[in-house]
Amino acid sequence: MTKKEKEEKLKEIREEVMDCKKCPLYKTRNYPVMGEGDCQAKIMFVGEAPGFQEDKTGHPFCGAAGKILDELLNSIGLKREEVYISNLLKCRPPQNRDPQKEEITSCAPYLERQIEIIGPRIICPLGRYSMKFLMEKFGLKNEIQPISKIHGKVFEVENLFWNIKIIPLYHPAVATYNPNMKKILERDFQVLKRFE
Ligand code: URA
Ligand code: SF4
Repeated sequence: MTKKEKEEKLKEIREEVMDCKKCPLYKTRNYPVMGEGDCQAKIMFVGEAPGFQEDKTGHPFCGAAGKILDELLNSIGLKREEVYISNLLKCRPPQNRDPQKEEITSCAPYLERQIEIIGPRIICPLGRYSMKFLMEKFGLKNEIQPISKIHGKVFEVENLFWNIKIIPLYHPAVATYNPNMKKILERDFQVLKRFE
């Protein structure tokens, strides 16, 4: 697919998401957050769901967790424009509560289409919900363990058309209140550097 075709297809998804009412979260959201970045990115990050700031602006990771994500990207010489950043859920759960099963089932097809279009070489789930979803999707169900055990680990999968590495990472929000976690995240990001 050419860059232009990818952009067109992503725009179609954006339009669908803007009007989406497939799960009850549409009632309480301000803006859905579809995701953004380079449509030809080699690395894609998948967070959990929009938080307060994201819901207000429509942009992913633009609050405290986003600041940490930017720092982590910069630490390996990447700018956020060079990767693609999205979420498992496109609308904010009230009070940032955990995603519910039915919400994931309703919303994840958007993420799956984004992955299909962008075709990243590396997907980094941020946090346990996106980790679980993506590992199941890519046939790694039996490898699922608590994120404390498999963060920073590289799982290779052969997709139908291209090979993908799944590298689960802690959610950057954990580093906003825990400097030790930030060190762990920094170390895990160094793993990504190997594949640039
Ligand atoms: N946390 C997430 O999981 N996603 C965002 O976009 C912001 C915070
Ligand atoms: Fe639609 Fe997803 Fe928003 Fe639910 S969370 S309303 S499925 S875009």
